[in-house]
Amino acid sequence: MKGHTNGEKYSMSDGMNSFDTVIVGGSYAGLSCARSAAAHGLDTLVLERKKDLGEKIRTTGIFVGEAADVLDVPARLKRDIHGVRLYAPNLQSVDLESPGYRFQAINTPDLMRWMGQQAELNGAEVRTGENVAQLREIKDGVEFSKQNVRARFGVGADGARSNYGRLLGLPENKEFLVGAEVEMSGVRGVDQDRLHVFLDSEIAPGYIAWVVPGVGVTQIGLAVRKPHKPQLERFLEKLRKLFDFRDAKVVERRGGLIPCGGAKREWYTDRSILLGDAAGWVSPLTAGGIHPSLQVGKAAGVAIADFLDGRISHPAALLEWRRPEWRTKQMLRWGMDNIALPNSLLNLAIGNPLFAKLSQIIFFHHRGLKDPEAWKAIASSEQGESLPVDRQSLAEWFLSP
Ligand SMILES: Cc1cc2nc3c(=O)[nH]c(=O)nc-3n(C[C@H](O)[C@H](O)[C@H](O)COP(=O)(O)OP(=O)(O)OC[C@H]3O[C@@H](n4cnc5c(N)ncnc54)[C@H](O)[C@@H]3O)c2cc1C
Repeated sequence: MKGHTNGEKYSMSDGMNSFDTVIVGGSYAGLSCARSAAAHGLDTLVLERKKDLGEKIRTTGIFVGEAADVLDVPARLKRDIHGVRLYAPNLQSVDLESPGYRFQAINTPDLMRWMGQQAELNGAEVRTGENVAQLREIKDGVEFSKQNVRARFGVGADGARSNYGRLLGLPENKEFLVGAEVEMSGVRGVDQDRLHVFLDSEIAPGYIAWVVPGVGVTQIGLAVRKPHKPQLERFLEKLRKLFDFRDAKVVERRGGLIPCGGAKREWYTDRSILLGDAAGWVSPLTAGGIHPSLQVGKAAGVAIADFLDGRISHPAALLEWRRPEWRTKQMLRWGMDNIALPNSLLNLAIGNPLFAKLSQIIFFHHRGLKDPEAWKAIASSEQGESLPVDRQSLAEWFLSP
């Protein structure tokens, strides 16, 4: 496809440099789109506001197994975690797992740098320190006047508060969870093969709190439904009953907004699309956005190439069917926002075998509670008997669409 430009950026008579595609935002969605677009021969430019792709990370960065299938992360940047330990507010817990399934904790700053290199190795140009504050759509593309560049097709992969979408008059994300996380060294007593998930409707109303044995650090965080504020210090205080913090040191703090209103119906214009958080592609229930961002980014690179080659009428023609509906998750999100279970009830529930079985299905069963087989299994299984589980389910029910 470099036939569009003979593989070289060309300068227009007005002095603007022209690219096949310009992608605003160098993170999961933007960099996977850049890698795929460049691999399909497009002259590709990424404009990222941060000076270094790995600085100011705003995510916990956990991959579900399916995300690992989309992106083959180098071994040095990840570690597998095979099960979940679910805690009630009184810190009683139940272990959940599914044979053969794993999450991946990731060294996200280095992952971002690596994704940037992968995009460049495929021929994309990644410019950091470029804050895109202005753009306008023209007849055959998009112009970024401050950067002095023009694209035949533009991509807004600039996160939850997408400026790209706002500048084009597309609807903004309006509903958010707000997350806060601290990365610590020296925390002892954390089972390294578990994702530790805490239910507590006082500390984490509308969502959960977590402890992740990460790559060389322990990541401790929580998210709450706006307008609540994350009470990270209170959660850390509570954790002192479980883990040893005597030698613990804060390495870094992270935080940010997580769209939870579902995927936007209006997410493209004639010459632009929004991807990832910018388009609201985050599970409203689980707040998992990495897998959808990677998936749609990769597919978008191909779709833009097909569009610029005249094979399809618009990239959205190839991508729209992937737009997640999340009807059940939207309903459950409404439930979590409006019918918060009191801690006393959660404490009672965790010791109940039925609750454990329900949780196991939610975490591990392929179609979750939508599957009549899951309900049959609940109805027929005796206490202590293990339920049929499905390795695919965590992606669908916990962290991804
Ligand atoms: C605290 C927290 C924890 C989370 N944990 C998980 C998790 O464990 N697993 C999971 O699946 N999901 C998680 N999520 C959600 C997940 O991080 C997002 O869905 C994902 O990062 C979306 O990727 P993205 O590429 O669309 O956007 P982002 O990762 O938000 O990246 C947007 C990029 O655009 C850049 N940018 C913004 N504006 C401009 C501009 N004007 N000009 C140039 N560049 C710009 C930003 O600097 C950034 O690099 C979490 C979110 C938060 C906030």
